[in-house]
Amino acid sequence: PSLALLPDLRADFPFFQVHPDLTFLDSAASTQKPQAVIDALTDFYTGEYANIHRGAYRLSALATDRFERVREQSARFFGAPAAEGVIFTRNATESINLVAQTWGRAHLGAGDVILVTELEHHANLVPWQLLAHSCGARVVAARLGEGGTVDLEDYAAKLRSLPVRLVAAGHVSNVLGTVNPVRHMTELAHEHGAAVLLDGAQAAPHLQVNVQELGADFYVLSSHKMLGPGGVGLLIARPERLRGLPPYQGGGGMIDEVTVDGSTYAPLPGRYEAGTPAIAEVIGFGAALDYLGGVGPERVAEHEQALLRLALSELEGMPGLTLYGAGLATLERGETERCGVLPFNVRGAHPHDVAGFLDEEGVCVRAGHHCAQPLMRALGAPGAGGLAGTVRASFYLYNTPDDVHTLVRALRGVSEFFGEEADT
Ligand code: PMP
Repeated sequence: PSLALLPDLRADFPFFQVHPDLTFLDSAASTQKPQAVIDALTDFYTGEYANIHRGAYRLSALATDRFERVREQSARFFGAPAAEGVIFTRNATESINLVAQTWGRAHLGAGDVILVTELEHHANLVPWQLLAHSCGARVVAARLGEGGTVDLEDYAAKLRSLPVRLVAAGHVSNVLGTVNPVRHMTELAHEHGAAVLLDGAQAAPHLQVNVQELGADFYVLSSHKMLGPGGVGLLIARPERLRGLPPYQGGGGMIDEVTVDGSTYAPLPGRYEAGTPAIAEVIGFGAALDYLGGVGPERVAEHEQALLRLALSELEGMPGLTLYGAGLATLERGETERCGVLPFNVRGAHPHDVAGFLDEEGVCVRAGHHCAQPLMRALGAPGAGGLAGTVRASFYLYNTPDDVHTLVRALRGVSEFFGEEADT
C-alpha cells in the first residue's frame, strides 16, 4: 500500500520563510519550531512570566498551573504510568544520568551487569560506565543483527547467562533509524528480573509512544528533538521504581523540611526537580505536543516512511555511494522497521567534506560519528579506527518529496566530483 504524505506544513514554521533556499535535513539532531511554540514562549515571557510553586500571587499560581498541566499532558501523550512519575529534566542525557545516579546507585553492585546494545548513543552508554566504575558493575553490549536492530538471540543469551540488573536500550537508533523490538526486549528483561530504561530521544518525535504498552520502567526523551524548546527533557518512570530513593541534586523545590544539620525530601516528582526549572520552555513543550497531537503521530510516522522510501529508491545503486542500515527490499518485506534517518558515505570522500559540499547547495546534514562510536565500529564505516563516521540526512514532518529530490541531485554532483577526484 502506498504511504500517505502530509500536506506541506512549512507555512507553520517561520524558519522556512526566513530560509526558503535551505533544505533542512538535520532534524535528528534538533528540529525547527512551529509558530505555535514560538508564540507560547513569547506570550509567556511577555506578559505571564513568574516563578512557579512558591508564589503567593495570582500570576505565579497561574504559571504553576500551566507548568503542571504540561506534566499531565505529557503523561497522557506518552502513556505514562502516572503523572507523578513524569520528571522534567534538561534533556534526555540528564534523564539517563538521573536514573543512573539514583536507581542505579541503589540497585547495582559489584559484578552486576548493565546490558546495552551496540547502537547506543553515548548518552545511553557513558552514564552507565560512570556508574559501573563507581560500584564495580559491568556494561555489556548486545550485538546488532543484519537489519541494524539488536540480535535477539544474543540479547536473550546474555540475559540468561549474565547477572543483568538493568537493560538500557535505544528505542530508535540516531544513526540508522532502526527501531529496536523494545516491547519484546522489555518482556524478556522482566522475565529475568532486570529493570528496563528505553532511550526514546529518537523515537518519541517520530512514533506513537505508549510507555505503559512498551512496559518500560524508565523512558527518556528531549523536547528539542520534537518541535519543542531546548532545555527540557522528560524522564517517565514507574513511580514505584523511584519512590523512597535518595535525591539526585539538592536545592530548592526538592525538600520537605530543612535544618542546618539535615533535610527531608519532597515526594515525587518534586524530589527530582531541584531548583527553578525551564518554566517557559516546559510550557512551550506543551505547545509542541499540542501541535504534534493535532497532526497525529501515526500520520507523522507514515509521512517520514514515504520520504525515507523515496530517498532509498533514488539512492540505492547510485555509483560511489554507500548506504547504511536496512534497505528498501528489507523494509518492503516488513522484516524491520526504520525511521527517517539516512546515513551514507561517498566513496573517496571524508564525511565532513561531503557535508560541506552539500551545504554549498543549501542542504543541511550532519557528519561524523553521531555520538555513537561503538556503532561506527560495528558498521565498519571508513576510518573506523579514526572514526571518520558517516554523513547523515534525517527527515521530519515538515520535509517534502522536493527536499528528497534536492538531496539526490546534490549527491549526484558530490559523487561525480569525488569520483573524478578518485579517478585522477
Ligand atoms: N539518545 C539518542 C538516541 C539521541 O539521538 C540523542 C541526541 N542526539 C540523545 C540520546 C541525547 O539527547 P540530548 O542531547 O537532547 O540529551
